[in-house]
Amino acid sequence: MKPLLQVRDLQVTFDLGRHGRLVAVDGVSFDLGQGEFVALVGESGSGKSTTALALIRLVPPPGYISGGQLGWWGPEGEGPVDLLRLSPGQMRERRWREIAMVFQGAQNALNPVMRIAEQMVETVRAHSAVSRGEIIERAARCLRMVRLEPSRVLRSYPHELSGGMRQRVLIAMSLLMSPRLLILDEPTTALDVITQAHILEILREIHAQLGLTMLLLTHDLAVVAKTAQRVLIMYAGRIVEEAPTEALFEAPYHPYTRGLLQAVPTLVGDLGTKRPIPGAPPDLRDPPPGCRFHPRCPYADARCRAAEPALEEVGGRRVACHHWQRIAASGRPG
Ligand code: SF4
Repeated sequence: MKPLLQVRDLQVTFDLGRHGRLVAVDGVSFDLGQGEFVALVGESGSGKSTTALALIRLVPPPGYISGGQLGWWGPEGEGPVDLLRLSPGQMRERRWREIAMVFQGAQNALNPVMRIAEQMVETVRAHSAVSRGEIIERAARCLRMVRLEPSRVLRSYPHELSGGMRQRVLIAMSLLMSPRLLILDEPTTALDVITQAHILEILREIHAQLGLTMLLLTHDLAVVAKTAQRVLIMYAGRIVEEAPTEALFEAPYHPYTRGLLQAVPTLVGDLGTKRPIPGAPPDLRDPPPGCRFHPRCPYADARCRAAEPALEEVGGRRVACHHWQRIAASGRPG
């Protein structure tokens, strides 16, 4: 598989003045291949949205990218170019044309007083000089891809569409410039279960049809099961596990992944056995010493409290846990 993006040691810091300093993304490294469908999974506050914003260099102040490289390859495998070394103008050129993002909760951010057609025309015109007719044609194609009827949707105002339809409009908008990487931040959160399933099916179709690379951010491992080919698990600003989806569900190596699986009622066993991970993610202004997951981990011992585990390569997977062999041997959580 040709490479598309190589993220190395990415670090994003927030200077909070008298409230301290917080490293929200701390040494994150991963690769995306051309045409891959990858999920980045973690609880709220794990750093996944900040990681995604860093990939398109839109981290809001007082946050800033404080280290790392973002190697970006061309369609024929040429490159890589470090996106972090591009000027703001050069990056603006690539944003949406090459890397597009559907932001979390963005279905409520559509302009309420503009018809969808005008919003789509404005989106394209912000990036290239294309005639209105051509944009509408392109918009209709993209709307059909998300199973919306262009003649109805293009002349609608956002309030005339359901939440699920607005989310599909946003996915269609993100496809208008034919990006090579599409990042989707919690695209199904706040939607009912049937609409969620419908949107995931549409994403799978778009991925198969267009062959573009997708990075799906979610807190819900159930969303990942039938969509992503590979999963990255993030906790407290760091990647703690990476594996092909099937292998991860079959035998998670990290106790946090195990906890996420146990918190998903639809995947394993009956409702009565499901339990959320106890405790809360740490305050990143003052993370715990050793393994950041140790205050919530049922396997934690003195070594975990003293020394931080490195992210190790193990048979085509990666895991950051001192006791991963013991956890892997216990298989899929029941
Ligand atoms: Fe749990 Fe220790 Fe592994 Fe951290 S290193 S996840 S505390 S067992």
